[in-house]
Amino acid sequence: MAVKITDICIACGACIDECPVEAIVDDDDNPNNDGCYFVYNNKCVECVGHNDEPACASACPTDGCIVWDAVVDSQPHRDDIGEDKRTAHVPVVE
Ligand code: SF4
Ligand code: SF4
Repeated sequence: MAVKITDICIACGACIDECPVEAIVDDDDNPNNDGCYFVYNNKCVECVGHNDEPACASACPTDGCIVWDAVVDSQPHRDDIGEDKRTAHVPVVE
């Protein structure tokens, strides 16, 4: 994955239209059916080539909701984000 929406998501919808590659789906279409929005890891490009930082995280009003996660092979990713941050716990915007 590239970025991940965690279970503190309040399903406000602020992120979904910000994604340049339509990687985000709403709570109705979340395959985990957990009431949160969801990022498809095979679509997310960490906004490389689109924005200076992940646009979803910039738009999200819930502190710490969107976190870094592991890179998917062949997907664009931000080189400056090390493995130490790709733990599914470190917020994209702190
Ligand atoms: S980081 Fe960018 S490409 Fe990835 S889900 Fe968020 S807005 Fe979409
Ligand atoms: S902006 Fe944040 S809180 Fe709102 S739906 Fe997206 S991830 Fe959830």
